[in-house]
Amino acid sequence: MTAGTVLAAENLSASYGPLQALREASFRLGEGEVVALLGANGAGKTTTLRAITGSIVQVTGSLEYTSEAGALSLIGTAPADAARHGIAHVPQGRGTFTDLSVEDNLRVGAMTRRDRGEIEADLDHWFATFPRLKERRRKPAGNLSGGEQQMLAVARAMMMRPRLLLLDEPSLGLAPLVVADLFATLGRLRAELGVTVLLVEQNANIALELADRGYVLEAGRIVLEGTAADLMAKDEIQKAYLGQ
Ligand code: ATP
Repeated sequence: MTAGTVLAAENLSASYGPLQALREASFRLGEGEVVALLGANGAGKTTTLRAITGSIVQVTGSLEYTSEAGALSLIGTAPADAARHGIAHVPQGRGTFTDLSVEDNLRVGAMTRRDRGEIEADLDHWFATFPRLKERRRKPAGNLSGGEQQMLAVARAMMMRPRLLLLDEPSLGLAPLVVADLFATLGRLRAELGVTVLLVEQNANIALELADRGYVLEAGRIVLEGTAADLMAKDEIQKAYLGQ
């Protein structure tokens, strides 16, 4: 594996029974990179994230992850292992605990940590980053707007202090202004924290504005890859995903 690689997939395939949703995909995430995984509905984007977190069982190929403790294969690991190794997943639909308060959601994010003092400091940090969450810290997460819940989901994942953050369609169901606000915050996060991000999006335009590089999935196969600027300039991307 190249130095500075956080995750390297080689010929990664994943199936649901007889349906092969991911076909021999090879991709890599460099340390501190934001990489976009683009594609239409059903292309296999969510399946790729599930393969990384171990929440799908039929996976073949190689998936090498480098944590601070060294290199390991993620094939066949359980979701709890992924979290233990510093992989945080913000699933589609946000996955916040709607009955718990905003603050308790953030504390749940830090459950695998033991550094109590630093957890309090991180809580303050995220409340400073997302003032709207601070104002609503004692309210149930279910009372938040869609955009606020997405911000809470991101902040909760970051409370884990992850090495790798997996984001599944954070723009889904949000108004354009809210999406712009969320992505501006994600841009600040990457500059500040240097966390490696795999960003699944159907909204190629906004994803490529944030990302360093990207891959395009079509029917389970990676059909295009390149820097964000290269991909943005491609006719196929313009036509298929940017509506031009
Ligand atoms: P979307 O944006 O709709 O989530 P996607 O690119 O993330 O699309 P996947 O969710 O990875 O696509 O789905 C890839 C293929 O796998 C699709 O054909 C889908 O119907 C199928 N699939 C996804 N989840 C399951 C499942 N739990 N059981 C069976 N088939 C599934």
